[in-house]
Amino acid sequence: MEHIRTRGAMPKFIFVTGGVVSSVGKGITTASLGRILKSRGISVSIQKLDPYLNVDPGTMSPYQHGEVFVTTDGAETDLDLGHYERFIDEDLSALSSVTSGQVYLAVLERERRGDYLGGTIQQVPHLTNEIKARIYGVAEQTGCEVLICEVGGTVGDIEGETFIEAIRQIRHEQPRDTCLSVHVTFLPWVGATGELKTKPTQHSAQALRSKGIQPDAILLRSDHSVPRDIIDKVALFCDVDARAVIPMETAQTIYEVPIILEERGLGDFVIERLGLHGARDLAEWREMVHRLKHPQGVVEVAVVGKYVELHDAYLSVRESLAHAGIANAVDVDIRWVHAEDLESRPAADVLAGVQGIIVPGGFGERGWEGKIKAAEYARTHNVPYLGLCLGMQVMVTEFARNVCGMDGANTTEIDPESPYPVISLLEEQTGVVNKGGTMRLGAYPCKLIPGSIAQRAYNTDLISERHRHRWEFNNGFRDVLERAGLRISGTAPDGSLVEISEIAAHPFMLGTQFHPELQSRPNRPNPLFRDFVAAAVAFAEAPAVVGAARV
Ligand code: GLN
Repeated sequence: MEHIRTRGAMPKFIFVTGGVVSSVGKGITTASLGRILKSRGISVSIQKLDPYLNVDPGTMSPYQHGEVFVTTDGAETDLDLGHYERFIDEDLSALSSVTSGQVYLAVLERERRGDYLGGTIQQVPHLTNEIKARIYGVAEQTGCEVLICEVGGTVGDIEGETFIEAIRQIRHEQPRDTCLSVHVTFLPWVGATGELKTKPTQHSAQALRSKGIQPDAILLRSDHSVPRDIIDKVALFCDVDARAVIPMETAQTIYEVPIILEERGLGDFVIERLGLHGARDLAEWREMVHRLKHPQGVVEVAVVGKYVELHDAYLSVRESLAHAGIANAVDVDIRWVHAEDLESRPAADVLAGVQGIIVPGGFGERGWEGKIKAAEYARTHNVPYLGLCLGMQVMVTEFARNVCGMDGANTTEIDPESPYPVISLLEEQTGVVNKGGTMRLGAYPCKLIPGSIAQRAYNTDLISERHRHRWEFNNGFRDVLERAGLRISGTAPDGSLVEISEIAAHPFMLGTQFHPELQSRPNRPNPLFRDFVAAAVAFAEAPAVVGAARV
């Protein structure tokens, strides 16, 4: 008899949980699983369930959370969504990011509205129902064949319990062969005896079982190679098929992980257990990884930021440079530069020898003047420059001050009293105070101007890129800056907002109000990153004459 489902056509579900410790690459594993299935012709979507109480990571410091990844529809999400998009090469939406904060907020708002008719509101069933509705919701919306849900944190965390319970209920509600539980753990290495230990993995599998979920597969993260007896031991004590205990030693590049997992049988196991069909086909991916691992040359690019000791804060920038490196057959070495260092040391020392400079997005005053120094150095030494959001605002401010003689030119974010507010809030420009959401978030169209570097890079006239900012190029200064040699190369389709600007006399100095790094994929590099790295290669071959770009 056919199983009667409670809802419409449901996909298969893979739930990914973590054990032992966090930060061992559960996000990459989830993304890799997505790539493995997609390469087999199976449509996938991925969702992240984050147990913290913030509604979204938009308000969290990069020290807490690394980069905030923005989706096309403007959600501020966990950086793992960036990995998912880069691996499965699909745009995800706000639905793919669920936090405890959102779940509580939705339930409590309903409670305040009186929707529960005098009932008692409880974690089970009210929170769990809300979580399940969001999991089923993304499954229905995307129409995917397989939905992969990753639970943040590790099993046993108090704040993750409600998510685990919701997953247990889905496993109970759905037919047996439609749900798979993948548990990612870590094998610690004991130096004294020179061996890997499985006990924490055993405990973690027990913890998961005590919540009613028997893992179907266990992936063992390790910095050492994992011997056969360890695999057998985990299989026996965790009650998992030995072929589904898969070691995952630290790889040379994250993009290799799908290949490793596929070779070790994870794809075969998953499709067999879920009753899916599709042969392995990672040929293109393999080819891409081969090019990544065998560059023909190397360029060094400085990333001048505020959180450079924390590379996760600029994760998508780092990955976009890797993608652009693949396209140009070079390895892109990143020199992480503290913007503040440029405030006390000469730019020529700090930036000596780099073939490109990136000033990424940012907020607030710290390091701002150092970033201006970086832009000045790039402009006057013809070093390729790519400014991302704040980096464009830096570029325009530097140009106004040092080329147009506008002393004290600034963004009103830093100096609200600036005599030349070349970057300002829209309401300061129009006098219309915009209440409500103050940040421009998500994808907006941008019209490219023929003959510009940007238009040549994209090779089209209309693009769509993602934003996360409040301040804008001040249209009141457009004419005077253009006359001095600033090329406005991209605007909103009606011309009202400047989206891209370039220094006309420079071989490659370009800033975008949007974040091109959010849509770059290893197989489809963002065109601006690609051409920026090409310019860095050209600069490495023939550094341009110093000072040539002075106007
Ligand atoms: N702080 C700037 C603004 O809000 C830049 C933001 C960013 O770089 N993402 O406009």
